[in-house]
Amino acid sequence: ARAQAMEISERPDVGYADIGGLDEQIREVREAVEDPLTNPGKFEEVGIEPPTGVLLHGPPGTGKTMLAKAVANQTDATFIKMAGSELVQKFIGEGARLVRDLFELAAEREPAIIFIDEIDAIAAKRTESKTSGDAEVQRTMMQLLSEMDGFDRRGDISIIAATNRFDMLDRAILRPGRFDRLIEVPEPDIEGRTQILQIHSRGMQLDSAIDLAAIAEETEGFSGAELESLTTEAGMFAIRDGRTEVRREDFDDALEKIAEDDAAGTPIAF
Ligand code: ATP
Repeated sequence: ARAQAMEISERPDVGYADIGGLDEQIREVREAVEDPLTNPGKFEEVGIEPPTGVLLHGPPGTGKTMLAKAVANQTDATFIKMAGSELVQKFIGEGARLVRDLFELAAEREPAIIFIDEIDAIAAKRTESKTSGDAEVQRTMMQLLSEMDGFDRRGDISIIAATNRFDMLDRAILRPGRFDRLIEVPEPDIEGRTQILQIHSRGMQLDSAIDLAAIAEETEGFSGAELESLTTEAGMFAIRDGRTEVRREDFDDALEKIAEDDAAGTPIAF
């Protein structure tokens, strides 16, 4: 059951160079997660405790999981991912048991990075969610907090959580000694979008006339994940046309298709 709910990778194949437009966030993650793992003496010398937990928050598909994977890659740490929704279980005590398993597994695989995605599933304010009123969900969260209170941050385990519902979170999890380092991961700006388009078209044969900055200009509001789909979709149009080279018109067709799909997915308002 353990293996089912958790995703484990010895060394994720995502590096900082694969992440576009998040230089400041990369710097902060390195400082909060990488330095305590690789250079704990630095914190001792200064006489401060490294952050206990890091919370990444921002819209979906902006690179939160990538950041956590990249830091695991950089520190040669085992990456153990669990979704908050997986921790909401049917049986009493099951969520808390999974949390215990998670920390036990991390201790066995040190150095390790525990990544809890959708932390809001177990840590929403009581008023904001139906499930958080649930005593079982509360118990799961209490177990998480007690594991965090109990572990020595100078050990070789780091904990990173992510949410795209920061406003919904129970502030109790943000206290010192818990998720005490917040890093906002915003939607990419034009430069970020250009970089993300570059990263995802690295392996493509782009027509030399393609200006990715111009495409970035037309994709305001797109997340990293959406820009990735855009490049894939553009590649599909090239294939359909029997070409290996991808042209500007393929990106235009891809943009049009995405706009159509979006419109189809939006309920009509009367
Ligand atoms: P969610 O909140 O939905 O879990 P997330 O913020 O964790 O999303 P990721 O899983 O890191 O998002 O990103 C999904 C995919 O989108 C990545 O695998 C990557 O291909 C692409 N992507 C997202 N953000 C970026 C970025 N900043 N640079 C490059 N690629 C990105």
